[in-house]
Amino acid sequence: MAGEPQADCLFCKIVAGNIPATVVRETETTFAFRDINPQAPTHVLVIPKVHYPDAASLAAADPAAAADVLREAGQIAADEKLDDHGYRIVFNTGAGAGQTVFHAHAHVLGGRGLQWPPG
Ligand code: ADP
Repeated sequence: MAGEPQADCLFCKIVAGNIPATVVRETETTFAFRDINPQAPTHVLVIPKVHYPDAASLAAADPAAAADVLREAGQIAADEKLDDHGYRIVFNTGAGAGQTVFHAHAHVLGGRGLQWPPG
């Protein structure tokens, strides 16, 4: 069923505690952990506990959970003191845009200068 944990999903396994992660924050609806291959001094992934393949499908099916992900991203940026120099919240969507894990997730990136446009 839509939103239910998927047996073959890496991030569902992390939420369930079956794969270890460096946890940053957890709420009733979200889970945040450090990216295993950081692209910036701060690189945290914020995911909804419910499974949807990307941010747009999450927002369409469960807008409250999508809002929770964004709120948590902002809280993490504040906790990591990224506000002063700016930070980026990224939702890669689709393989052509570099998405490799098809469980909606926000990348929170900061702690260095960030160029625009991204590659
Ligand atoms: P990309 O791999 O191009 O960044 P995504 O936007 O789908 O594509 O992001 C998936 C992210 O998940 C990657 O940044 C990757 O480093 C991270 N990742 C993969 N496995 C783990 C893991 N076990 N723990 C933490 N982060 C992970």
